[in-house]
Amino acid sequence: MGRKRVLITGAAGFLGSHLCDRFIKEDYHVIAMDNLITGDLRNIEHLFKLENFEFAHHDVSKFVYVAGELDYILHFASPASPIDYLKIPIQTLKVGSLGTHNLLGLAKSKNARMLIASTSEVYGDPNVNPQPEEYWGNVNPVGPRGVYDEAKRFQEAMTMAYHTFHGLETRIVRIFNTYGPRMRLNDGRVLPAFIGQALRGEDLTVFGDGSQTRSFCYVDDLVEGIYRLLLSDYAMPVNIGNPDEITIKQFGEEIIKLTGTSQKLVLRDLPVDDPKQRRPDITKAREILGWEPKISRAEGLKITYEYFKSLPAEALINKEH
Ligand code: NAD
Ligand code: UDP
Repeated sequence: MGRKRVLITGAAGFLGSHLCDRFIKEDYHVIAMDNLITGDLRNIEHLFKLENFEFAHHDVSKFVYVAGELDYILHFASPASPIDYLKIPIQTLKVGSLGTHNLLGLAKSKNARMLIASTSEVYGDPNVNPQPEEYWGNVNPVGPRGVYDEAKRFQEAMTMAYHTFHGLETRIVRIFNTYGPRMRLNDGRVLPAFIGQALRGEDLTVFGDGSQTRSFCYVDDLVEGIYRLLLSDYAMPVNIGNPDEITIKQFGEEIIKLTGTSQKLVLRDLPVDDPKQRRPDITKAREILGWEPKISRAEGLKITYEYFKSLPAEALINKEH
């Protein structure tokens, strides 16, 4: 029997590239697709020489064609950082809606199992903490973040409709803030923002009073959870994230300690609709997938800092991407 074949969209991005590595390691044939709107081919260039890896430069919001059989589709294409999706709001809505529809159609025609990358943002600014999968969320559809949150909520609804109406095999992972090597230093998310500022000798910009919380998961833990979910028989959404919750102010202090910078925290305006608290309830992941995160924030941050330090100097200069 030949290798199993998997299509990964958003493959040149942060998470997509780590998924490519994992599926190559598991000896799959990987078809990587990306339009490079926020991604970077350098994240996957080490795979180009492999005979079981191919790359397609394509916008998945347009009709998607893939030759040959497919066993799995992982749909990870979408801007993911607030500054990205605020800059390209229409593309963000399209890739979550039209892109998802195209890929569900492809999955149906190939009889493939499809996993979609959903997000803790479907819970919006949550009124319950931690957030279990049963929580319906508190999202402002017409606020600036609505373009991302509602696209992802539509994505889940469309995926569930293909599951119930067409009997398609589907999986939904709700990803909580994940970090690690290959994040773009200038993508605006808090970890690369703080480390970039420390490396440039600038103060670290805390938005609001820094009392809002997040729970940061190291990328290898996330990839393991996604891999297990894909191979499970569970079609309802599953949270994957690290429940170790921290305020953004404490997080800034940790980065100051980690980098040894002599800079300090400075307060800036809080973006509109910025969620005040976020922490995954991972009971389902534990019970259904036997999964829980293994890498502590201290360990994960150290690896990620080493990665950012190893980048060429020009990566630091350009604040915009
Ligand atoms: P990223 O920006 O690094 O990667 C996204 C990739 O998708 C990029 O390579 C980009 O070029 C590509 N892309 C965007 N629109 C496309 C289109 N129309 N056609 C083809 N390719 C397109 O972001 P990431 O952090 O790797 O996020 C990947 C996925 O995971 C996204 O769907 C995101 O919503 C989801 N997610 C990520 C996190 C996180 O913490 N990183 C949290 C929740 C959900
Ligand atoms: N944040 C911050 N300073 C920055 C960038 C982000 O204080 O330079 C805050 C942001 O307001 C939010 C948290 O850090 O409360 C996480 O932001 P990020 O963009 O990483 O992810 P998300 O808001 O999508 O969880």
